[in-house]
This record gives sequence, C-alpha cells and structure tokens, in this order.
Amino acid sequence: MKLQDMIAKSANREPLDKNELIQLLSYPPDSVETYQIMAEAYRISKKLLDGKAEVHAQFALNLSPCLCNCLFCSFAKINNIFHEEINIPLDEAIDYVLQFERNGANAIFLMITANYTFEKFIEFSQEIRKTLKPETTLVANIGDQNLENAKRLKDTGYAGVYHALRLREGIDTGLKPDKRKQSIRNFQEAGLKVGTCVEPVGPEHTNEELAEMILYTASFSPAYSGAGRRITIPGTDIAKRGMISELRMSQIVAVTRLGMPRTVLGNCTHEPCTLGAMGGATLFWAEAGANPRDIETKTEHGRGDNIEQCRTLFKESDWALWDGPSRYYSQPL
Ligand code: SF4
Repeated sequence: MKLQDMIAKSANREPLDKNELIQLLSYPPDSVETYQIMAEAYRISKKLLDGKAEVHAQFALNLSPCLCNCLFCSFAKINNIFHEEINIPLDEAIDYVLQFERNGANAIFLMITANYTFEKFIEFSQEIRKTLKPETTLVANIGDQNLENAKRLKDTGYAGVYHALRLREGIDTGLKPDKRKQSIRNFQEAGLKVGTCVEPVGPEHTNEELAEMILYTASFSPAYSGAGRRITIPGTDIAKRGMISELRMSQIVAVTRLGMPRTVLGNCTHEPCTLGAMGGATLFWAEAGANPRDIETKTEHGRGDNIEQCRTLFKESDWALWDGPSRYYSQPL
C-alpha cells in the first residue's frame, strides 16, 4: 500500500494491520517517508491531547542485584554492576515523592525490584499515599502479581501500574511471557489502568517483532503505549548488540501511535528526547533513585532527567504541558 493511503487510513481512524505496520517500520529512519509518519503521529497526538504533554516521575524504593537476570538491566545479577542491596528508608522516599508533587509531576511512580516484598511495598505505599494530595496520581512499577495483590494495590490508592511484555521476554529475560500477560489482565480486572510500551528496542529486533508487539499493546487498551530503546550498559554481554538511534526510536514511537486506536490517549518514550516528542510522544519520565538503565545508585546524578528537563524537551518540540493529575490514568476503564 502507498504511504499516503496508510496515512489516510489512519486519519480515518481505521486500525493499521501487521503488514502495514511492518511497511511503516521498514522505511529508513532518515527518509522522507519516516518524517511524514512522524509528522502524522505528532498531529494525532497533539489533537488527542489538546497539544499538552505529560511528565511523570519515578522513584525506586530499592536497588538490589536481581536473579531474574534480564540481560538489558543493570540490576541483573549476571551483569555484575551492583553487589549490595539498598533499601530506601520511608522518610527519604517521602521527601522524594513530595518533591515530585511540588514540581508538578502529572503522576508519581514507585518502583521496586523483583525481590522486594509485596507486603513492604504495600506498607510503604500506604504511608506515602497519606502524605500526597488525594488527587495526585500514584502508579506502581512492580513485578508480576496475582489478582488478589492487584486488588490490594487498588485499595492502597494506586490509579494504575506500568507493566510491559518486553521484547523477547523469556529469551532475554528470566520472566515468563504468559505470566506478564496474566498480570496485565489481573491489574485491569482489579480496576487499575495499565500503561505499557514496546521495549527495550535494540538493533536486532525485526520489524515483524516490533509490529507484533505494537499490536499486542493495542489489544488490551492500555493507558498509553509507545516505544523505548535499550540503553547500552557498558561491559554487559548484550552491549555487543548495540543501540538504535534516537531517530529510529522516534520512528517506532510514531508507528506505535498509528497502530493504536484513538481511545489510547498516551504515547510514551524513554529516554526523553526532542526527536521522540516530534514523533508523537506525549509522555516522558523523570527519574530519581535507582534506575535499571544506569550504573549510578542515584540516577539523578547519572542518566535520569528531572521534571524540568523533561518539560523543556517538550517545550523545545512545541508542546505545551498538562497541569494536573494524569489524563491517561484517569480515563474510565
Ligand atoms: S528488569 Fe526487573 S526483573 Fe528483570 S533483572 Fe531488572 S529488576 Fe530484575
């Protein structure tokens, strides 16, 4: 199909199929065709969100060598980056999240690694929830959960979660794809909105794999989808596979927008960049504490951007910023 016909089909709100998505992903990132796709995704995102993007902020409650051994993660024990477990005390965690709230984050994420106990996470979350304004959007970024735990998250005051079936899950990660998918169903059944992403994209992923993952994310009506590239962690085995450019990532961000129904408002990318915003990304994350893409224990001293830096990247891409609780996590289920 001609590119203009696919753009017209998308503009007509008809979903693109797998072969069409593969074709869009197959244009060279620096081609006129890719720039047209990015322009169309930018137009759709701007229209859906009234020109206002969101910045969410994530804080990690712990750092720990993780036996799940996802190859792209700096916490993975196999990568030999971190050797000590660090658990952040409650008062320090509260200071961080209150700072996020004062700085205008549209949602605050609490992250833990797989070996942090669920009970402790709930205990900390209850205390943190009490200190935040009732309208502040709280989101959990945690491991796979059964339905009972998903309901407890909802009862604790979480609006939603971030959860992704990662590319080559079960091959490059120590987690089971079916369990990831079941967790997403559990979260949704418990009344939690699920934000997701096509990640972590590396040069080895085929356009077919990317198209299939775009369609999988579309299939469960997430709060947002999007695309994020794998960040090379020096010295790891997977570093040999290399890293895609920000422009290629932005192409995938744009194709993801065209592959989503309009009922999916958000389109994320990570790490934040103006090219991503030009490709129709509407959500960046600021980060503090540990970060699975960083070798610093406090990513605010390393790769992590703060809220103001994320806002600046959007403004430089001619986006305005949404003021208030996240729209992605407050849509009806
Ligand atoms: S991505 Fe999560 S589960 Fe995988 S190694 Fe890192 S912390 Fe563990």
